[in-house]
Amino acid sequence: MRILRTIAEVLAAVRDARAAGHTVGLVPTMGAFHEGHLSLMREARRNHDLVVVSLFVNPTQFAPNEDLSTYPRDEARDAALAEGVGVDILFAPEPAEIYPDGFATTIHVAGITEVLDGASRGAHHFDGVATVVTKLFGIVRPDAAYFGQKDAQQVLVVRRVVRDLDLDARIVACPIVRESDGLAMSSRNVYLDAEARAQATALNRALDAAEVARAAGDGILPAARAVLAEAGIEPEYLELRDAETLDPVESVDRDALLLVAARVGSARLIDNHLLRGTPA
Ligand code: AMP
Repeated sequence: MRILRTIAEVLAAVRDARAAGHTVGLVPTMGAFHEGHLSLMREARRNHDLVVVSLFVNPTQFAPNEDLSTYPRDEARDAALAEGVGVDILFAPEPAEIYPDGFATTIHVAGITEVLDGASRGAHHFDGVATVVTKLFGIVRPDAAYFGQKDAQQVLVVRRVVRDLDLDARIVACPIVRESDGLAMSSRNVYLDAEARAQATALNRALDAAEVARAAGDGILPAARAVLAEAGIEPEYLELRDAETLDPVESVDRDALLLVAARVGSARLIDNHLLRGTPA
């Protein structure tokens, strides 16, 4: 596996691969790898000749009061893990390589970025995501890019960018990888102390309770809210939304996402669950 720091090096490597007729898969990440990240890399490895993983803690998607400075970073560990699953190129640029002096372009997706995490974290968040992903697509020109369904709203934002800007990449959303007790894996789980770690299991339990309530014909949101309340968690949001448009929905006639965000201990965690629409 090669660790590359510059855009020019990645462009050259991708050009060589394309000249040889190879397909290219991209996995954008912010590092601190866990099984969730590795599942995306393995899927890319299965489908492509050249697998590029970007490791970049993107400053523009953090608000000033968020955890940019403390976000877990361990490149040597990440490199070993990526190499272990057969990644070809780890692209780990400095911020100035991605945002040189004079950088002035922002990709803004309207609508779906204004709710949920966009409302909670601020509009800059998805602007930062959309801009860096567009840049990475320009640099790597992947046949497909792999994202986790854990960040369901991010997947929809990226799909919107790809459609609106005619980027020639397939977006693959991979299932949420969980710890054995159901907690969705996240780089931010390292912020949890023992008490908060136990409390955090309530997020997935709330999503499970919602699915059970739905099967019983009971209220989906009240069931989820009750589990959170019992664990002492006041969510930033707990919402049922159309799985494609993110419009609020009352019932699950079409595929819907139940999405939750909450502060647990010193971590801000998100999770979600897809509720399949009942055929008419
Ligand atoms: P991050 O490094 O947190 O920006 O995540 C990089 C990619 O890994 C994103 O597409 C995430 O959605 C995905 N990801 C993070 N956690 C998980 C998880 N538990 N299961 C599946 N994918 C994940």
